[in-house]
Amino acid sequence: MIYFDNAATTPLFPEVKTAMTEAMEIFGNPASIHAIGRKSRIYIEDMRSKIAGLTGVKPAEIFFTSGGTESLQTVLTSAVRDLGIERILTTPLEHHAVLHNLEALQQSYPVETEHVRFDEHGRIDTGHLEELLHHPGRKTLVVLMHANNETGMLLPLNDVCSLCGVYGALFLSDTVQTIGKYEINLSEGISFAGASAHKFHGPKGAGFLYVSAGNPIQPLILGGGQERTMRSGTENIIGIAGLAKALEVALRDKEDVQHHVNELRLALLGGLRQVIPDLYPLTDISGSLYSVLNIGFPVERAGDMLIYRLDMEGVAVSGGSACASGVNYPSHVLKGLGLDHTPYTFVRFSFSRFNTMEEVEHCIRIIKKLLR
Ligand code: PLP
Repeated sequence: MIYFDNAATTPLFPEVKTAMTEAMEIFGNPASIHAIGRKSRIYIEDMRSKIAGLTGVKPAEIFFTSGGTESLQTVLTSAVRDLGIERILTTPLEHHAVLHNLEALQQSYPVETEHVRFDEHGRIDTGHLEELLHHPGRKTLVVLMHANNETGMLLPLNDVCSLCGVYGALFLSDTVQTIGKYEINLSEGISFAGASAHKFHGPKGAGFLYVSAGNPIQPLILGGGQERTMRSGTENIIGIAGLAKALEVALRDKEDVQHHVNELRLALLGGLRQVIPDLYPLTDISGSLYSVLNIGFPVERAGDMLIYRLDMEGVAVSGGSACASGVNYPSHVLKGLGLDHTPYTFVRFSFSRFNTMEEVEHCIRIIKKLLR
C-alpha cells in the first residue's frame, strides 16, 4: 500500500513504540502517595515539562487530554459557560469538533456566532476579522484553525494573535494539524490550543490542551481531580509517553521533513498537471501546510469513485466527501467553499516523512491509468 492519508492519522515513530513500551513498566497510580505512585507522578510531570519546553509555555499551562476533540470541546464549553463569552467569530470551514460543539452550545447558552469572510481557497480575510472585532463591550472568542485539514490552508497566526490582543478577544486555535509540523510558540498570543499525538506519529487517544495563564476555564470532566482538577480520570501514562516522544522527534527533524514532504507534493502536482491539464488544485501551494495537497479531478474523466478505485490499486487517500449508505455527500468544507456543485472529484493527498518519490511516481502512473 502507498499511504497518502497522513492528515487523517500517521504511523508510529519507532522511537515512540520504544518509549511507550518502556512506560508500560511504570504502572503506579500517579495519585498514590507511595514510592510506586510517585514514580508515575514524576514521569508525567517530566513529560509535561518536555512538551511545555517544545511549545514555549509553562508546564502549568499544559493539560493532558484524549486529543483534539476533547481539548477543543473543553475550551468551547467553558468559554461560553464560565468565561461569559457572548460572541464567537469563526468560519464554517472548521473541524466538526468545533462546529458540532458550537451548534450544541447555542442550544443552551445565549452565544452568537459570526463568520469571518474567506476566499475561494479558504484564506481568512483578516481585514474583515478586524471589522468584526471592532465591537467594544461584547466578550468575544475567536475560533480559527491553524491549518485546515482538508485543504491545508494556513491561518496567518501572528496577525490573528495581534488582532485579538489589540481588541481584547480570546483566541482558540485548532492547532491539531500543525503542532509537530512547525515550531509554534503557543505563548505568543494564543489563549487556547489543542494537539493530538496521532497526527505526528504518536498514539491515538492522547493529546494536550494549552490554556494560557490567566484564563480560568473550568473542566469538562469531573471526578478525582487529576490534572489539577482540569481533567479528571487516571492519567494515560503510556499515551503521554508516546505523545511527548512523538513531539520531540517530530520537531527535532522538522526542517528536513518539511523540505522532503514539500518536494513530494510539488512532484505529485507537477506530474499530475502534465497528465491532466484541466485539474483544479484546491490547495494553494504558497499558503498551505506543506504536507497537504487537495486536487479536483475533472469528474467526466475521473468519475466519482476515484478514491475507492485508488484504494483498489493500493493507494490510500481521502476525499472531500463523506459516504453514508453508499451515497457520497460533499464535505462541509467543500460546501463552505462553494465547491459542492462543481464538475470535479476532490482528492486529498497528505504526506509524511515515510513517503518516497517512487511512491509519488507510482501514484501518478496509477491515476493516469484510472482516468478516462
Ligand atoms: N481538528 C482538526 C483540524 C483535525 O484534523 C482533527 C482530526 O482529524 C481534530 C480536530 C480532532 O482530533 P482528534 O482526532 O484527536 O479528536
